[in-house]
Amino acid sequence: SVMVGRSVRRRRRWRRAVGVLEELDEGCATPIGRLRQVVDAMAVEMHAGLASEGGSKLKMLLTHVCNLPTGKEKGTYYALDLGGTNFRVLRVQLGGQRSAIIGHDLDRQPIPQNLMTSTSEELFDFIATSLKNFVEKEENFSGASQQERRELGFTFSFPVKQTSSSSGNLIQWTKGFSVEDMVGRDVAECLQQAISRKGLDMRVAVLINDTVGTLALGHFHDEDTVAAVIFGTGTNACYLERADAIIKGQGLVTTSGGMVVNMEWGNFWSSHLPRTSYDMDLDVDSPNPNDQGFEKMISGMYLGDIVRRVILRMSQDSDVFGPVSSKLHVPFILRTPLIAAMHEDDSANLSEVARILNNTLEIPNVTLNVRKLVVKICDVVTRRAARLAAAGIVGILKKIGRDGSGGIASGKTKGGSQYKMRRTVVAIEGGLYTNYRMFREYLNEAIGQILGEDVAPHVIIKVTEDGSGIGAALLAASHSSTL
Ligand code: BGC
Ligand code: MG
Repeated sequence: SVMVGRSVRRRRRWRRAVGVLEELDEGCATPIGRLRQVVDAMAVEMHAGLASEGGSKLKMLLTHVCNLPTGKEKGTYYALDLGGTNFRVLRVQLGGQRSAIIGHDLDRQPIPQNLMTSTSEELFDFIATSLKNFVEKEENFSGASQQERRELGFTFSFPVKQTSSSSGNLIQWTKGFSVEDMVGRDVAECLQQAISRKGLDMRVAVLINDTVGTLALGHFHDEDTVAAVIFGTGTNACYLERADAIIKGQGLVTTSGGMVVNMEWGNFWSSHLPRTSYDMDLDVDSPNPNDQGFEKMISGMYLGDIVRRVILRMSQDSDVFGPVSSKLHVPFILRTPLIAAMHEDDSANLSEVARILNNTLEIPNVTLNVRKLVVKICDVVTRRAARLAAAGIVGILKKIGRDGSGGIASGKTKGGSQYKMRRTVVAIEGGLYTNYRMFREYLNEAIGQILGEDVAPHVIIKVTEDGSGIGAALLAASHSSTL
């Protein structure tokens, strides 16, 4: 009877663990109907954000970038990319012919953790020093003597209220950065001053968001590129908007081509988003509660931490993980690359899952069934993220009339039954998309489901390579004072 009692208790504990998973699964549900609601909400909020300043949680920031690179850019330009896990400096040589990026050299280093929460002077001195070292090394190596002033494209991947294409004030930090004295200040000016302090002759020619660099590079390679999306540490999108649709910026758009709008979609919110108690707890514990709600459900910085929170709950409710490991209380200990590795573990006994549970979370000896539960948690969290991201992308397409629903304007094909859709390319970048196959597959699949089989073939998701670096150099070239 002791044995019977034990097995009954074990079954009861197992059922509680499964209950946590089932509740999660229900809370994260993204049936197609709900995705369509998110698509509509995204398009509606885009309108609202363009109508007036503060009209929506979607900031819809005007970038002052009206001309995307044409491919005729020529010369040597520098770029600096700050905004995620790494910080990079590049030197790009442009050849003046279509698709002629002759070469680029790159220096990449992690941002020292203490600088992410230091003072602006410390942060920018570090950046300017790295920049100077890089310039000296490169020019020594190439034997180039500098004749004209060097031009720099600065990619700063946080919400910035631009005052021109080369200046703008930081609205707020995201992604765990918090250098408080920077908020409200002109980011390009801070960099320019630090560059001068180091005695480097270089001009900040453009200040851009990483999405804008990605759009620039995407457009350079393929002129049908209309939008760009980042899935990295954070998430965001930008797209090319018609001049007359930008109500709040009447008169700012100087060309007929329109202007690139940085949506800051990480801050999108809608009651249609499937939100769980884990999301609410994550938000409350974050340095920016009530902000970046969409980002906190989608981007690489947060997915692993949602999974950690679910495992913690499961461990507390059911003890299928043994005694609750103290590591489960450590925020962000489970990075997204680890949940990708567990999710994509295709070994028969899920040995990678066991290894990560043991090494990172100090949870040894979990049974195969419990490992399967962990994989399922990763699946539910990542699938929701990818499908919501897909709905966001289709929301943009809807706003600019490229989702096939307003196809009448572009005419019918000869057959008469199908609408003619213009080829539409969305440029994508970021490790979450490129390194996490399941995220990528769920996203692509959901776009197909939402658009339907007639429209989906006309929408092409294209990964660009280092738009936030090379794109900044391209824009520096097209906004250069020497051109
Ligand atoms: C920032 C955006 C950025 C995105 C991707 C977000 O947290 O607010 O400006 O584009 O991350 O890097
Ligand atoms: Mg980046």
